[in-house]
Amino acid sequence: MNKPFPPVALNGVCIDPDRVQGLSGTDQPGRILRQRGQHEVFCGLTSIIWLHRKMQDAFFLIVGSRTCAHLMQSAAGVMIFSEPRFATAIMEERDLAGLADMHDELDGVVERLLARRPDIRMLVLVGSCPSEVIKLDLARAAERLDARHQPARRVIAYSGSGIETTFTQGEDNFLAALLADAAKRAPGRTDSPARLVVAGCLADVVEDQFARLFTALGIDGVTFLPGRSATDRLTVGPGTRYVLAQPYLGATAAALEKAGASRIDALFPLGGEGTRAWLAAIADAFKVDPARFEAVIAKPLQRAGEATAHYRHWLSGKRVFFFPDSQLEPSLARYLQRELGAAIVEVGSPYLHREHVAGELALLSPDVLVSEGQDVERQIDRCRAASPDLIVCGLGLANPFEAEGRVTKWSIEFAFTPIQGFEQAGDLAELFARPLMRAALLDDAANRERLS
Ligand code: SF4
Repeated sequence: MNKPFPPVALNGVCIDPDRVQGLSGTDQPGRILRQRGQHEVFCGLTSIIWLHRKMQDAFFLIVGSRTCAHLMQSAAGVMIFSEPRFATAIMEERDLAGLADMHDELDGVVERLLARRPDIRMLVLVGSCPSEVIKLDLARAAERLDARHQPARRVIAYSGSGIETTFTQGEDNFLAALLADAAKRAPGRTDSPARLVVAGCLADVVEDQFARLFTALGIDGVTFLPGRSATDRLTVGPGTRYVLAQPYLGATAAALEKAGASRIDALFPLGGEGTRAWLAAIADAFKVDPARFEAVIAKPLQRAGEATAHYRHWLSGKRVFFFPDSQLEPSLARYLQRELGAAIVEVGSPYLHREHVAGELALLSPDVLVSEGQDVERQIDRCRAASPDLIVCGLGLANPFEAEGRVTKWSIEFAFTPIQGFEQAGDLAELFARPLMRAALLDDAANRERLS
């Protein structure tokens, strides 16, 4: 049993001892601070922005309010002008008051949508806070619509509501829904199960690089989840191994295990070290000859090291503070600390899947404070007291911090930019270095102006 920690003072801020929970094992960071309070994070709907670009014949129909539609408009930016494959079926007062039959209304919206967009192969109904609060059963609606539109189209449902999900957890629920759909259709399948499932949405360029590396390593039967098309086959069975490419996939992992797959435990493929460890764990599971593995990864690993070293000067010794956003934070902090020489002050994450991030946490320095959840005012106090060189946070906090003369990095970019794999290591380093480079340039310009 974990012993309670004594009260601790961090940079002058006393942390409530009953919110502090110790980690077992001496190689783990000293403590995890759990916080529940006001939080500044996206809801799971936002993950639709990268999911709809990945799966190019799927359409995401949010069943929600004008708030949900406004969120998607703001988060998608200029994408909303390119007829994207997502929309919101807005619930009106009469729906909320129970004056209309929501299922009839939804069926009407779906019919009009499918008539207008015949290219849709998979319709995804996405639940929101309002649809959940009035207990609209989207799973049942999806089943009914699926039966009606088979075999031309599939209809599935999942929740992206702010009550249930934070940002990237929307993707987790989507992938779990895809797996449930695949299991439902499994009895008629004759194709053999995948040998390896790589779970987690990756940019196409990253997926292609990993696919080439798997071929070079002699690993075949690989399926990426999600696939690029709704018609891609997904068959999982007792012989299937799976590896997570993203750290926020608790429900997906559970669904894969329910289908009989077993997990390959690995670091996440960020930076040279993370990508090497991730590939090594897979190669080990498939009994790839170690000499062949080293030969395949030697050059890409070298390129990753050189590209990262280019930015080390900017980040070495810099103190970095992470606010919670995407659950990528422990892996990003590990990369910054070990490959760029940064000193991590606090790593905030909306949720920590202990088993999946155990390897990442074990590599962080013991003095790093790991915080799970958020009580934003308290976290801002800790951040100000620590006065880090770089703050990784959302846009709601970034400009106010900049106005105080602090340097920030907008965290959502890590979810939208291809950062996994050897070839993206330099881009990842640059994302952290750029705000520091810009601040230095502005300082220089201000000094020159003063002297002139
Ligand atoms: S799902 Fe909930 S949190 Fe997300 S935009 Fe809609 S109302 Fe807001």
